[in-house]
Amino acid sequence: MEAFEYNAAPARVIFGSGTISKLAEEVARQKLSRPLLLSTPQQVDHLTQLKNLLNGKEAGVFSEATMHTPSHITDKALAYAKSVNADSVISIGGGSTIGLGKAISIRTGLPHICIPTTYAGSEMTPILGETQDGKKTTRSDPKILPGTVIYDVDFTMTLPANMSATSGVNAIAHAVEALYARNTNPIINLLALEGISALSVSLPDIVLEPSSLPARQKALYGAWLCGTCLGAVGMSLHHKLCHTLGGSFNMPHAETHTIILPHALAYNAPNIPEVMKKIAEALPGSDGDAIKGLNLLLEKLRVKRGLKDFGFKEEDVEKAAEIAVANPYWNPRPVEEKPIRELLRRAWAGEEAR
Ligand code: NAD
Repeated sequence: MEAFEYNAAPARVIFGSGTISKLAEEVARQKLSRPLLLSTPQQVDHLTQLKNLLNGKEAGVFSEATMHTPSHITDKALAYAKSVNADSVISIGGGSTIGLGKAISIRTGLPHICIPTTYAGSEMTPILGETQDGKKTTRSDPKILPGTVIYDVDFTMTLPANMSATSGVNAIAHAVEALYARNTNPIINLLALEGISALSVSLPDIVLEPSSLPARQKALYGAWLCGTCLGAVGMSLHHKLCHTLGGSFNMPHAETHTIILPHALAYNAPNIPEVMKKIAEALPGSDGDAIKGLNLLLEKLRVKRGLKDFGFKEEDVEKAAEIAVANPYWNPRPVEEKPIRELLRRAWAGEEAR
């Protein structure tokens, strides 16, 4: 075995169904008394549940979290947090709300308790993406990593089947890229393969029966592991392409990850034969072919396969390829503009990956 370095995320994780009942206890354990509760406007019902559990002991609620963590929303939330004298933040939601929690926490030093309700994995990472004047910048700092994560499967029950599917594939993408990261290690490999396996089994069950508790449990468990992979090692071509499409073309996050993943994996395949074998073993019905296994999963999930389905224009393929190759970054196969343009064209059209 080759020598490696492994940095464990220091986060405290509480996992299960009904675990939110431990929230008040957790707040008290950390000697906090004035948490600010955060959500999107779509999840105020979840906020109300938290308020009830805290018996009105929150400092306030802010329900304007939105995609891409825009700085004007962060500024408004910061002013509000100050005005109510908050001593901590509790974010309930997906990557957008958790992003706001991270943005407040890194600026103020307030402890951050996360209650994730999608499979995107932001709660497990020291990474924060923010937008100012339409420009998205990403930074990484150990202080951004939330201190406590409460995974309560019950909150994921309301995540619609189609969003569960794409959010779950977003998680799988973290694990796939972690397997061929330059700084990968045996521990992360274990988590990545277990994560891919748990999600590829549970997501089709969720699409058939969104209220299946065993499937939801398995999916959230898988998402946790995949999020850990994202937070622990470097990502490559797949995440870079999705970042370009999201940041410069406003494409939806999870849906874009779902469309790009087979194409990015097929691009890297010639240079990562061992990883392709491992991924195939984790994907049911792959017959030893990771791309086949992934395509089969996406078919079962009934997800849209073309960027054009989300308004991406064919004439933007060239510009996206240019941006994606502009700043060099590590990838198992050299990133070259011509094949990347063809990759993006296929993804735009919704053609099979090759
Ligand atoms: P999201 O947080 O934008 O949520 C999408 C919508 O679904 C929102 O309206 C939300 O309120 C709603 N929703 C979430 N959970 C729900 C539930 N259980 N029931 C009903 N509705 C629910 O989506 P996302 O995919 O989780 O996050 C995407 C954002 O997170 C992107 O901006 C992405 O860049 C960021 N992200 C960051 C990291 C990181 O490590 N920094 C990791 C992953 C994603």
